[in-house]
Amino acid sequence: MPSLLSFSPQGIYCEQAGVHIDPWRGVDRAIITHAHSDHARGGSRHYLAHPTTKQLMHARIGKDLDIETLWPGQAGTINGVKFSLHPAGHIPGSMQVRVEYKGEVWVATGDHKRRKDGISEPYEPVRCHTFITECTFGLPIYRWKDPASIFEDINAWWRTNAANGVCSVLSAYSLGKAQRVLCGVDPSIGPVLVHGAVANMNTVLEGCGLRLPRWEQITADTPKERFRNALVITPGSAIGTPWTNKMRPYSTAMASGWMQLRGWRRRGNLDTGFVLSDHADWPALLQAVEETGAERIIATHGYTDVFSQYLRSIGYDAVAESTEFAGEGGELEERQKTQDESHKGQGRS
Ligand SMILES: [Zn+2]
Ligand SMILES: [Zn+2]
Repeated sequence: MPSLLSFSPQGIYCEQAGVHIDPWRGVDRAIITHAHSDHARGGSRHYLAHPTTKQLMHARIGKDLDIETLWPGQAGTINGVKFSLHPAGHIPGSMQVRVEYKGEVWVATGDHKRRKDGISEPYEPVRCHTFITECTFGLPIYRWKDPASIFEDINAWWRTNAANGVCSVLSAYSLGKAQRVLCGVDPSIGPVLVHGAVANMNTVLEGCGLRLPRWEQITADTPKERFRNALVITPGSAIGTPWTNKMRPYSTAMASGWMQLRGWRRRGNLDTGFVLSDHADWPALLQAVEETGAERIIATHGYTDVFSQYLRSIGYDAVAESTEFAGEGGELEERQKTQDESHKGQGRS
């Protein structure tokens, strides 16, 4: 019997049901873990996803996608295979996919994090026999600090800038990270202004019931003085383009797990960096593995070799599988895309 899930050229595949999970090419039926662009791609005939992911996909990919929805814990059966979604804690709507057939259970995580972020449905451990997990930050050097202390750092940076009449321009992934930042900062310091790409995601998520603190979209009419004590949340691609001219003088920063690596800060030409990730760090990855009770682990997406090797050394049957997911490096992909957008809609976006 072929294994319940396998890795096809299109992605993670359940042959018995004819369903792919997060395929990177068009397929007949796709289950989508979450709406980040490296997991949710267009071109497939039928989709199954969480209702929030459905709305995000319509906004990001196209209105005409055929998307059925499942709520967390609700099960659907295709050709005898039972599928259900369980919160992954990564961004709003992000789900792990549980697949059960004849008593055998597999779970594919998509991206996940265990720490509550105030905007995503909290991560739920799911028991299984085989666990397919991302390991974007699957190296022992990645250990996140308490996000509350990171937000203190962000607020201190913003407060100092504001006191000096310097605008604070913070680069954050437009879906997930931007809203998490919005919810975590101290609004008494000044106004929170956002790029059009962030505003679009805010609007969709608010439509799905997410409550966000006050935010304001930057337009051509936003007066220059408005930026003096403001926090601007934007995809990194817009920084340094004509779009940021009006914000001068400004200080730049990025909120990402990659900020733990100094090279990233330099490459992005940033004044400062905040280590704030929506992925599990090394201890959280190990805890996630342990809690599933799984004997067999498949590491995808990230430091798969190091992570699977470590798991083997502590007694797991673990392998690495390569995928075409870009990880939180999807931020880079977004950089490119929004750069094009901001050139098109200069000052307007
Ligand atoms: Zn993601
Ligand atoms: Zn990813």
